[in-house]
Amino acid sequence: MSFVCENIGVNAENHLTFAGQDTLRLAEEYGTPLYLLDEDRIRRNCRLYLEAFRASFVPGSRPLYASKAAAFKQVYRVMAEEGMGVDVCSPGEIATAEAAGFDLAGACFHGNGKTDGDIRYALDKGVGCFVVDNAEELLALEAEAGRRGLRQKALLRLTPGIDPHTYAAVATGQVDSKFGVAIETGQAEDFVRLALEQKHVELRGYHCHVGSQVFGEDVFERAAAVMLAFVAEMKEKTGYLAPELSLGGGYGVPYVVSDPIVDIPAKIASVAKTVKETCARLGIPEPAIHMEPGRSIVADAGMTLYRAVAVKRITGYKNYVTIDGGMGDDPRYALYGSRYTCLAAGRMGEASELRCTLAGRCCESGDLIQEDVLLPETVGRGDVIAVCTTGAYNYSMASNYNRYGRPALVMLREGKSFVAVRRESLEDLLRLDL
Ligand SMILES: *Cc1c(COP(=O)(O)O)cnc(C)c1O
Repeated sequence: MSFVCENIGVNAENHLTFAGQDTLRLAEEYGTPLYLLDEDRIRRNCRLYLEAFRASFVPGSRPLYASKAAAFKQVYRVMAEEGMGVDVCSPGEIATAEAAGFDLAGACFHGNGKTDGDIRYALDKGVGCFVVDNAEELLALEAEAGRRGLRQKALLRLTPGIDPHTYAAVATGQVDSKFGVAIETGQAEDFVRLALEQKHVELRGYHCHVGSQVFGEDVFERAAAVMLAFVAEMKEKTGYLAPELSLGGGYGVPYVVSDPIVDIPAKIASVAKTVKETCARLGIPEPAIHMEPGRSIVADAGMTLYRAVAVKRITGYKNYVTIDGGMGDDPRYALYGSRYTCLAAGRMGEASELRCTLAGRCCESGDLIQEDVLLPETVGRGDVIAVCTTGAYNYSMASNYNRYGRPALVMLREGKSFVAVRRESLEDLLRLDL
C-alpha cells in the first residue's frame, strides 16, 4: 500500500502506523480526538530548507518557520534546536515562543492589523524584525520605537501582483489584497520613501508572500524577479539598496496520493538560480533571502485520530460516518474544501467500499471533514478513524465551538510519545466565565 507520506504505514496486525507507532494504541492511551505530530518529520522538513539555504543563497539568508501553521511551546523548542527563524503574528505567538525559550531576536513579526498594543508588546519582547504592512503601522512603529530610543529593524510588505493560481482564500500576492502595499500602483515607492524618512525604523528590505499551498512551476521565481527589479528601481531612484528580501512562504504538500510532491531542495536551487541571474542582469548585489514555510514544515508531520460514533446509511442517498470531532478541531474542509486522506486505522487489511461523508459532531450542516471518502463496509461505532496530513492549520485554527474542548496534541519522537499540549477539560472551558 502506498500512502500520502512515508511516515504512514501498516503493521502486522493490520493497524495503521504513524511514525512507526500503532495508532490504535495511541488512541487507547491518549483518547480521541487526538492530534499526533511526528517530531522527527518536522526536524527532517526543517533540515531540507536549512541545507538548501546553506547551499544556495548568500550568508544571512534563512528560512523562518511560519508558526501560525501550528504554534505551541514544543514546536518553538524544535525550531530553536534546528536553528530556524520563526514568523509570529500575534502577542500570543510571541508569548508562546518566549515561554519555550526561543530567542525572539530570530523572530519576524507579521500581520496586517497590528494595534499599538501589539507593537508595544513586540518591542518590549525584543522581536528581531517587523514586517510592516502599511504606512499607518510604519508611523505607529516609529513613534513607539522613538519612545524607547531604539532603531527597530523592519521589512516592508509589498504585493508583487502575482496570482499563484491556488484557492482565492489563501492567495495574497495579487494587487487587490488586504495584505501589503502594491508595486504596480506606485504606492510601494511612496511607502519606501516614507520608511527611509523614519529615524527609529531601520529598513532592512522588502517582503512579499504570494500565497499558500503553491505548486505552480515558477511562482517564487516570478516573485523574486519582480521584487529584485523593485530593489534595483529603488536603488536607482532613492539610492537605497535593500540588503534583505523575503519571498514569503508556501510550498504545497500532498494531501491525497494524486497530489504532486514538491522537491523542496530542487525548488530552492531553482529560486537561487533566478536570484543570481536577475541580480547579475540588474547589476545589484544578491540580497539575503528569507523564506517562510509553515505548511511544508508541519503538515505531513500531523495526523488526527477520531473514533466513529455512528454510521448512517440514508436509503437512496448518502452514507455518513460521524466522528467524535469535527470543525472545532479541523475547520479546513468547512473553510476551503481542503482534501484529506481518511483511513479506518484498525481495518487496514479490508477493502474500502463504503463511499461516505466523514461528518463532525457540531451543530452545523457544514461541519464535515471530507466527502467521498472510501472506508470498509464493516466500519462502526468505536472504530478509530485517521485523517492524514493535519499538522498545519488544524490545531492552530481549532475553536471551542459547541463548547467542546480542544484535543490533546501528542508528539512522536524516536519511537516514543509524549503530550505536548494537554486536552482541554471542562474546567478549562469554564475558566474565563465569571
Ligand atoms: C501563512 C504565511 C506563511 C506560511 O505559508 P505556508 O503555506 O503555511 O507555508 C508565510 N508567510 C506569510 C506572510 C504568511 O502569511
